Amino acid sequence: KLYNQVQDLKGNIRVYCRVRPFKPGQSNTLSSVDHMDEKTITILTHSKNGKEARKAFTFNKVFGPSVTQAEVFFDMQPLVRSVLDGYNVCIFAYGQTGSGKTHTMTGPKELTEEGLGVNYRALSDLFHISNQRKETISYDISVQMLEIYNEQVRDLLSADEIRNSSHNGINVPDANLVPVSLTSDVINLMNIGHKNRSVCSTALNDRSSRSHSCLTVHVQGRDLTSGNILRGSMHLVDLAGSERVDKSEVVGNRLKEAQHINKSLSALGDVISSLASRSSHVPYRNSKLTQLLQDSLGGQAKTLMFVHITPEYEALGETISTLKFAERVA
Ligand code: ADP
Ligand code: MG
Repeated sequence: KLYNQVQDLKGNIRVYCRVRPFKPGQSNTLSSVDHMDEKTITILTHSKNGKEARKAFTFNKVFGPSVTQAEVFFDMQPLVRSVLDGYNVCIFAYGQTGSGKTHTMTGPKELTEEGLGVNYRALSDLFHISNQRKETISYDISVQMLEIYNEQVRDLLSADEIRNSSHNGINVPDANLVPVSLTSDVINLMNIGHKNRSVCSTALNDRSSRSHSCLTVHVQGRDLTSGNILRGSMHLVDLAGSERVDKSEVVGNRLKEAQHINKSLSALGDVISSLASRSSHVPYRNSKLTQLLQDSLGGQAKTLMFVHITPEYEALGETISTLKFAERVA
């Protein structure tokens, strides 16, 4: 309830920031993060004359390097649960490659119970709550997994490319929709999706950092007394790395990838910032990602932009550009 009150003030868009810890053995490295509190992060920069300078950025929530996966999820729980009340929710993980997007959404490579990311925790929470409500509402929960690479949408649960339909850009109903009722179902599907993703990848490139991956959860609830149906959906999106690529240094496929990523991330930024400023025109059509999510961005839908930064001073340029992106959509 508190969440909904906050949302009414915020226009349904909120922005979180997570700072990942230094890599092991790196802890003496200079940090670009000067100070953090619950909602503000202050970055150490240098002004033109070489003097130390500081710049503060404000978010709905800042998570420092020692915050656990469980603590992060705890904060997102009301948003996740609103899906069971018929809301559409989009959660985006944004940041440069290596900043912790996949860590937040999926978890570390060697998955442990504590390491489980938002995707698993969200689904098991939905299973848990739907089970608690089973005397009054009967819920069906199913998932899709998609990847967008070079502006093409692929179904990770069947490794097919998804047809573009003429009217609405993308025909998502064509993607496999798999009913799930246990966390282990979700883990199995995520493994299949992961395998399909690597099958498609070129040998040299780490495709996961250059494509967006989207786990979509569809919920249908039937009120057992009235027979009324409600539908909600949640898109959990691990975005392609936001780092700018030096155009003088890449050619061919790499350049094409970089241009597609650039285009879709700025299209996403444009959509969210025009929703945040309640602009009358929302430019959904500028990328596959925003076309795909059009029905779940804006209106009553709830959006969480979760930006990730690294603490290393050497990454300052990327860190500032990530924080500026976040500032623009807030
Ligand atoms: P991205 O998906 O943004 O490229 P990753 O999630 O793969 O970044 O993170 C890069 C590395 O840092 C991984 O080894 C990951 O496990 C680790 N890492 C990221 N965030 C955290 C965190 N909050 N706590 C511990 N390790 C983290
Ligand atoms: Mg990743």
